[in-house]
Parts: sequence; C-alpha cells; structure tokens
Amino acid sequence: MTPRDPAVDGDLEVESIRRGPGAARAHAGRIEVVCGSMFSGKTEELIRRVKRALYGRQKVQAFKPRIDDRYDATRIVSHGAIAIEAVPVGSSESLLRRVEGDTQVVAIDEAQFFDRGIVEVCNRLADEGRRVILAGLDQDYLGRPFPPMPDLMAIAEDVTKVRAVCTVCGGAASRSQRIIQEGATVLVGGSECYEARCRACFRPRDVRQGEA
Ligand SMILES: [Zn+2]
Repeated sequence: MTPRDPAVDGDLEVESIRRGPGAARAHAGRIEVVCGSMFSGKTEELIRRVKRALYGRQKVQAFKPRIDDRYDATRIVSHGAIAIEAVPVGSSESLLRRVEGDTQVVAIDEAQFFDRGIVEVCNRLADEGRRVILAGLDQDYLGRPFPPMPDLMAIAEDVTKVRAVCTVCGGAASRSQRIIQEGATVLVGGSECYEARCRACFRPRDVRQGEA
C-alpha cells in the first residue's frame, strides 16, 4: 500500500474542478482516417474498430452518404459482407444534426462522397470529445487525391493506409483501376467496374481517351 499523498491528491482535485467533469471526455476527441483503393479492406477496418468500441460499451453511431446504395440502404456493408447498422445521410450538415449528445464514437464510411463541410463537422465532433473514424478512397480512378479525403487526412490524429492485392501482378495495390468506360468521377460500383492495381500496373489513360 502506498500512503496517500495529500499534496498530489489536492492537486488532482483542483485540476478536476478547474477543467470540469467533461475534461476527461474532451481529451478522448480524435479523428482517425482509414483509406486506400477499392478492395483494400477500408470498410472491414472501420467495422473492426467499431466492434471494439461496442465491446467496450461505448455508444457508437455510424453514417454513410446517401449516394452509396449499392447493397444496403441502412447498413455499412463491406465486400466481405460483414455489416453494421448505418444511417444514410445526404450531407455533412445532416450528419451533424443526427449525432446524439451521448455518442462517443462516430463512424463514417465512404467519406470521399461527402461535401467539403465534412471536414469542419469532423473537427467539431472531435473537439466535443468524440472519436471520429472515417473510411474512404484516398484517390479517384485517375489516381488523383479524392476530396475531401486529403483535408481529412491532414486534420486526423491517425491515418491508416490499407492496401489491396493488384489484380495484374499480385503485389500490394494502392490504386483503383476503372475497367469500364465512364466519364463521371463519381461512379459507385464494385468488382464489375473497378479492380485494384499497384502503381506500376495502374493505367489511368485506358479510361481517359474520351477526355483528352
Ligand atoms: Zn501490379
């Protein structure tokens, strides 16, 4: 047994009064970004972190952009078919409105499809003491940074780059090769539209002929 040190205990008490009861929670606020190409396991990693938070009895809310309705309107579904419940929202503003006061963890999938307001919303949620975990594509089908991911990566405390397997050479893939002709940058699709490629095997011009 260590005798109590009145000086230390007193300091702690003063500190807790000065900072208030919300201080510990405020220090929990952080932003984590999980990014990579298609089929890199971004959503699986997001779900893994959410499950751990749930095991830790934390209150979690999950969101996804309404644009992404590939498999399920209300769940974050990965290609591996692991799923958690998520609320589809049309904008960052709508997401912010739906975050409940006692929510400790906010999970956001397909973050690259949100408007730029998501950057400020994530900052605000983290400033309020919440853990914000985002998953998204870091690059578009031409290998360009995919807004607003670069800004989210800049303000995040933690950035994890996950990589897929290159369909051509079997190496670690960082890029999403579009394998059908399409003009728009926002093309929601799975394996019928894209495959994972490494830097060397990535051929952005294959699908850019019409734009040159
Ligand atoms: Zn390759």
